[in-house]
Amino acid sequence: MKEVKTPRTRIAVYYGIVLVVMLLINWVLLPRLTMANVTDVAYSDFLTMLNDNKVRTVELTSNALMYTASDQPRVAGEAQPDDLAIYRTGPLSDPAIVERLEDAGVTFGTPVIKEASPLMNLLIGWLLPVALFVVLGQWLSRRMMQRMGGMNAMQLGKSNAKIYIESKTGITFADVAGQDEAKEALNEIVDFLEHPDKYTKIGAVMPKGALLVGPPGTGKTLLAKAVAGEASVPFFSISGSEFVEMFVGMGAAKVRDLFKQAEEKAPCIVFIDEIDTIGKRRDGTGIGGGNDEREQTLNQLLSEMDGFDGRKGVVILAATNRPEILDPALLRPGRFDRRIPVELPDMKGRIEILKVHIRKVKTAPNIDLASVARVAVGASGADLANIINEAALRAVREGRQVVEQSDLEESVETVIAGQEKKSRILSEGEKKIVAYHEVGHALVAAKQTNSAPVHKITIIPRTGGALGFTMQVEEDERFLVSKVELENKIATLTGGRAAEDVVFNTATTGASNDIEQATRIARAMITRFGMAEDFGLVAMETESSQYLGSVIGNCSSETSARIDQLTIDLVREQFERAKQLLRDNMDKLHELAQYLFERETITGEEFMSILSRPIALPDLRPALPGEGA
Ligand code: ADP
Ligand code: MG
Ligand code: ZN
Repeated sequence: MKEVKTPRTRIAVYYGIVLVVMLLINWVLLPRLTMANVTDVAYSDFLTMLNDNKVRTVELTSNALMYTASDQPRVAGEAQPDDLAIYRTGPLSDPAIVERLEDAGVTFGTPVIKEASPLMNLLIGWLLPVALFVVLGQWLSRRMMQRMGGMNAMQLGKSNAKIYIESKTGITFADVAGQDEAKEALNEIVDFLEHPDKYTKIGAVMPKGALLVGPPGTGKTLLAKAVAGEASVPFFSISGSEFVEMFVGMGAAKVRDLFKQAEEKAPCIVFIDEIDTIGKRRDGTGIGGGNDEREQTLNQLLSEMDGFDGRKGVVILAATNRPEILDPALLRPGRFDRRIPVELPDMKGRIEILKVHIRKVKTAPNIDLASVARVAVGASGADLANIINEAALRAVREGRQVVEQSDLEESVETVIAGQEKKSRILSEGEKKIVAYHEVGHALVAAKQTNSAPVHKITIIPRTGGALGFTMQVEEDERFLVSKVELENKIATLTGGRAAEDVVFNTATTGASNDIEQATRIARAMITRFGMAEDFGLVAMETESSQYLGSVIGNCSSETSARIDQLTIDLVREQFERAKQLLRDNMDKLHELAQYLFERETITGEEFMSILSRPIALPDLRPALPGEGA
């Protein structure tokens, strides 16, 4: 019901138009048709004509006196000629009229105007307005429906699934990088659609449905479109949310129609994006009204999937980033029984994705995508596409013709940490605190073994809210992380606050994000990784969403309280260790903070060289605010 006015006002307008038309018919058209040649005359003229014997017949109505007259004086007993003129006069207030008429010997009381045929009367007075009513109504409702999305009243239940055919998407598997396993699985489906006999000969039945599962931005929608590009079959694409945003009862009708269309066009592919919007686990209560609609839609989808014959060649693809909330019925054999994981890309995948997207922009000759990919740990395909685009935008801003390596490096930070915000000015005092805070992180990291090397430290504020940040980059991909490494990570995270504490003996709000992360790691160590001695290998919490990182607890309240206590202890322990590390390296802390304060940015190499050289720099401390306790 997007941009259309509410139907109620439209109906009011409609009735208004019909009313006006009917009134016009009654006032203008009907009198014209039935009393074609009535002349209005003064009452005195009538009396004169009466006296001259020129009045033939008279009809007395409640508000007028109608009469026929002719130029020839009336002769008693003579038949009336047909072409008598018709006159009208009145209103009648003459009490002597009857007497006058009798005296004149005029016939009166008979209708003066010959009735139009009763059929004509019926047609004009009754059928015509009704017909008008219907025609107008149809016209208006069609226009209304057109505005509402190209359907008319008859097609209200039709799905508006978009049909992509190969040439239209223009996307092929070549556009999807770093998802080799997913592509392989989908390739089988493409092949089946192209050569079904190859499969049916052996007796293999293709799965009816395949579910693309993975975190946001990894290319699920892109893969589905690429399937359309690869297979030369019709491709129906609809998003789960399109089923539910329509009127009540429409979702199920849309599903029905979608499958009807698909079966007509088989072999073909039906793609349901974001299937979690309709495929959510049914709670079975059926109360909360709003869910009924969704459940009806889901039930319809399930029964349609069961209903059609897989050998006909309709393959249903669906995508979701929340597979765990899907109704189990959807995942049963014969439905979406095949899962195609679409995971975040690894180092190699990231390079490939960057290559795909860098083709679209002009670059300097010496671009090193590997180093960009190395820094962008955890970036999705969408993030990487965004990094390239941001780099191109930056090149334009700087008035250059090509994208350079520095643009890419800058945009990694932009995308990962929010844009550099040069306009935000920190006071000298704040800047010093931030410098110490960031060096605190870096120094704690560097003084531990098994910690990822520091890649860059900066105290240029970001739009994301961070006043500075320290970027560590792992040497290579990590899949297993040890307890010691996690503890080191917590220590590194608390290192910022530790520096504030040991140098200024104050605490600032700048550490809130660090604290959050440290807490999350500590808690996970205790509740999920079995790293707390008290609990051993018992899962106190399980991830409720594999990709979105939320957890649900499954333990008693006493245990919860102990988990909280252990978390606090664990973080505190690492905080103390971080502070000790900084106290042991106080000279380097001051030296590095001073350096960062002046330059605002330190690269990993600069950091390491300062760390390893003998020191001789003045202490900053006397100039610092907030000190003295
Ligand atoms: P999803 O549906 O998984 O959330 P999309 O398919 O919508 O993600 O991806 C968004 C955009 O990110 C794509 O249009 C594409 O530009 C880029 N992208 C994501 N994954 C890849 C990939 N594997 N290869 C190339 N580009 C990708
Ligand atoms: Mg998508
Ligand atoms: Zn910090």
